Amino acid sequence: MSEARPTVVVTHPILEPGPTLLQEACEVRNLPNQYHHPVELLRKAAEGAQGLVTQLMDQVGEEVLSVPGLKVVSNVAVGFDNIDVPAATRHGVMVTNTPGILDDTTADFAFTLMIAAGRRLLEADRFTRSGAFKGWAIDMLLGHDVSQSTLGLIGFGRIGRGMARRAKGFGMRVLYYDEHPAPPEAEQELGVTRADLNRVLSESDFVSIHVPLTETTRHLISTPQFALMKPTAVLINTSRGPVVDEAALAVALRSDKIFAAGLDVYEKEPEVHPDLLKLDNVILAPHIASASVRTRSQMSEMAVRNLLTAVRGGRPPNLLNPEALNPR
Ligand code: NAD
Repeated sequence: MSEARPTVVVTHPILEPGPTLLQEACEVRNLPNQYHHPVELLRKAAEGAQGLVTQLMDQVGEEVLSVPGLKVVSNVAVGFDNIDVPAATRHGVMVTNTPGILDDTTADFAFTLMIAAGRRLLEADRFTRSGAFKGWAIDMLLGHDVSQSTLGLIGFGRIGRGMARRAKGFGMRVLYYDEHPAPPEAEQELGVTRADLNRVLSESDFVSIHVPLTETTRHLISTPQFALMKPTAVLINTSRGPVVDEAALAVALRSDKIFAAGLDVYEKEPEVHPDLLKLDNVILAPHIASASVRTRSQMSEMAVRNLLTAVRGGRPPNLLNPEALNPR
């Protein structure tokens, strides 16, 4: 007799080959098209299911993780701040993410924001479209060079190192702040120097954030940190919104404490702080740093493979809480 097909829940659409791989092996429940699913709906959907495929807008806490029989929550993202991992571990539920495959795409985008904000690209586009361009002028829309400047990386993991690799080609000096020092070979190969946060902030022309959102990184960058930055500095955030105090950032941008910013993520997504919307010296992207056709498809596939391994009784390759396999 063939084994029963596992039931899995997909909270938001994913890209091929994810859906096909799932349909081949599982009974799939797709949730209604809604940005934030109420917790009661998530819990109800999880009842009788062995796995959930989730995305960053799903808040997966105790109520959902305590559903009997649930084996795995597979997040289609490298960040997993939307999942209560300690609660998952207590309930013996595995949690997985999609690290590695989005490093280049995300670093490409953070670099794009850096150049675009430093060189005022979006302001320039608006200027031209408005008809204000009346001819070349020596002092028109002056920005700041990326080449030969200093890049400060806050977080020197997979994506932070991707930034350092790119910075080499632009002749940049790179400082990084990370709670864990990188191996000396990596520092040497990438030509980077570890420094404390204050030094990174005060010496950098571009500061790019690549730490996960945790209790220690929430509002890591706020008023005292902006006070340390150069008035010509540009801040880039493609990590998670709450790492930056948005209200303080708006004040820093408005009062020329810093030159510009490029954001992909927001404190209360999808809301954007109203003061930021009024400013010309900030680029506001709608959380698309990993949004290339190839990467989003690979993320979908990786999340599905993580889930399939777990529901079949195996140990998924990107397991975040191995302790869940040996609950006390
Ligand atoms: P990673 O785990 O490889 O690197 C994170 C680094 O941050 C690690 O080196 C870690 O030691 C360091 N760190 C953690 N807490 C710290 C602290 N309090 N102080 C100093 N350093 C600290 O992660 P990654 O793959 O490079 O991704 C980084 C983050 O970027 C993810 O957690 C995710 O939230 C975000 N991200 C966003 C997008 C997007 O679409 N905008 C795409 C990919 C990743």
